[in-house]
Amino acid sequence: MAKNLTERVYVMPGGTNIGVVIADDGRAVLIDSGLNDTPARKALRFVREDLGTEIAAIINTHGHADHFGGNAWLVKRTNSRVYAPDLDEMTMRHPLMQPIMLYGGADPVDALRTSFLVAEASPVDGLVRPGINDISGIRIQAIPLGGHSLNQLGYLIDGVFFCGDIVFPAVTLEKYPIPYLHGLTEHLASMEVAAHTVCDRVVPGHGPVLETLDDLVARNRAAIDTVIATLLSVVNRPLLGDEICRQLFIRMNLQIADPQAYYLLRPTVNAYLAHLERLGEIRLEMEQSSVVWMPKTA
Ligand SMILES: [Zn+2]
Repeated sequence: MAKNLTERVYVMPGGTNIGVVIADDGRAVLIDSGLNDTPARKALRFVREDLGTEIAAIINTHGHADHFGGNAWLVKRTNSRVYAPDLDEMTMRHPLMQPIMLYGGADPVDALRTSFLVAEASPVDGLVRPGINDISGIRIQAIPLGGHSLNQLGYLIDGVFFCGDIVFPAVTLEKYPIPYLHGLTEHLASMEVAAHTVCDRVVPGHGPVLETLDDLVARNRAAIDTVIATLLSVVNRPLLGDEICRQLFIRMNLQIADPQAYYLLRPTVNAYLAHLERLGEIRLEMEQSSVVWMPKTA
């Protein structure tokens, strides 16, 4: 059931929230499209039957399958144009890039070629740049929120802030205490940017619409701090990356049930290690032809 947030901004709650904005010409623009054709069908039905109009464009926050997976189905039926952030558009046009990146840049094992990671490819007609964009008759302020993905953008429209996956709801953090991210240094800075973005309502990629991001930023920041503290306690002696992961998951009591869950976490841990090395908290050295991580004082 779609929720009216302002005169012309709606949100369709679901596994991934989909924004619907009415442009000056009366047609609709979607913010993200969900994982596949199921949420896409619901969005199209809402736009056609409840709003009595057509979809002119889809603007994606980032190139993860659960945010653009409905694009291809919608584009075929509505001819809508697709706009996305630079870099993230690459995984939308070439969805196999997502498992390739998770698998360290190599030809990914079949276990990573799942519909959760590999959506149907989407065309991309134009790039959204940080700052003010006029897209399909809507004035949108694009706010750089990179770090969760390569180049995620948040969109501020009429005081409604579509902030993508800059934060996850508390229930998600309980289930996944180490949420996927591409770059921790940038993600932390982006969380600050998001927290200071002046708006009336916030629509995160997942979970309920909020008045303010303050509480979720604090919770997400606390989850990150827990991972950092645990990682620093693990790297108290020279260790290989895989051994660090094993120790981290044991100490955080994570049950990693399948290769997909592991390969979402493996680059995430790499992002943490890069961040901590940048801060001088740990360092890397070559030992017996391998990279080993060690405490700064060792
Ligand atoms: Zn995401």
